[in-house]
Formats: sequence, structure tokens, C-alpha cells
Amino acid sequence: MQALTNRSKIASNKKMSFMERIYFPAIVKGMFITIRHFFGKKATINYPEQTREFSQIYRGMHVLKRDDEGRERCTACGLCAVACPAEAITMVAAERKSGEENLYREEKYAEVYEINMLRCIFCGDCEEACPKEAIFLTDRIVESEYERLPFIYGKDRLVEPVDLNLRIDISARQTENVLKFKQNKRFAHNK
Ligand code: SF4
Ligand code: SF4
Repeated sequence: MQALTNRSKIASNKKMSFMERIYFPAIVKGMFITIRHFFGKKATINYPEQTREFSQIYRGMHVLKRDDEGRERCTACGLCAVACPAEAITMVAAERKSGEENLYREEKYAEVYEINMLRCIFCGDCEEACPKEAIFLTDRIVESEYERLPFIYGKDRLVEPVDLNLRIDISARQTENVLKFKQNKRFAHNK
């Protein structure tokens, strides 16, 4: 029968030698490759005992920031949720009551604020959209879990502590360009 393409190969019927039949050369060759990698530079590290150095602007777990007086900066405007391509953010807004001025900076605040870390793709769009400098991504890792529910992070895990010594440092993310961008009134979310 005539071949339709020229891709066919003629199979060899050559008899295997004794050495080939006991696979000795192939085993030696395989061992040589293994030993070469054994003493070579390793591409992996012993995590979690060892960790790699993160970039200063690594995008990991979020933080909801407080202002200098310890008040929550978030005003539940919803811009982060609108900007989120993964629809990972949900919130419930509430009105600040008299006497709560030391807790919330604005008259409206997020009574509930949740991020579904399973949906989040750590793109940083929420951080860029926020007009109140309230949400930032950090170099903290979202811990692994066996269930889905614990991946929904509420305010208890997102809002930073009031204690100044325990605040989450995000100064490395506040480069000159970022600050300039956030003050530019040409962009709707900065107005
Ligand atoms: S980092 Fe991106 S995906 Fe994650 S919550 Fe923010 S906007 Fe949504
Ligand atoms: S954009 Fe900022 S202020 Fe508005 S809801 Fe999100 S975190 Fe809060």
C-alpha cells in the first residue's frame, strides 16, 4: 500500500545484543544522570524551614489599615469590590454612631468585610482602586487549609492591630509613583 505521507519510519528488526537485553548500559546511563543532579545546584529549597526572599512588592495576603490614631480607614465605598476581577470581596456598610469616632475614620464604615482567598488572584487591583489607602497586599502568605470556609477572611484577620508595634508595614509599596497616581484627580476613583 502506498504511504499517504513521508512521516512513516522503517522499524528495525535488529536483534538486541546481550548487554542491551540486560539493560545494563541504560541503567548505568540513568544512574549517571541521577548522580549528576544529586551533586548539582538544587532548584528547590526545604520550605517551610527555609524561605526565599520576597520582592518588596510581593502580592500576598491583604491588610486593612488603620490611621495614625488607630481608626479603621475603610469607608465601605465598595470600589475595591467593583475593581476586583475575581469578585472575591464582599462587604456590608454601616453608619458610624456617636461615640465611635475613635474606631472608624469616616462616617460610613465596613461592618462586615470579607475576602475569599480561594477566588483572589492577588492582582492588586483592590489596592490600586482604594481612595482611602485602606487596603494593601502584603508579603504574608495565606495559610493552607483543609476546608473551603476558612479561606473566607473577615475583618478579624484582615484589619491590622491597633498597637503601633504590631502594625503591618506597607511603606515599601508606597513608592513615589504610587502616591502620585493616587493623588491624580484625572482618575475617577481618586476624586
Ligand atoms: S488582589 Fe485582585 S483578586 Fe484579590 S481581592 Fe484584590 S482585586 Fe480581587
Ligand atoms: S476601596 Fe478602600 S475604602 Fe473603599 S471599601 Fe475598599 S478598602 Fe474600603
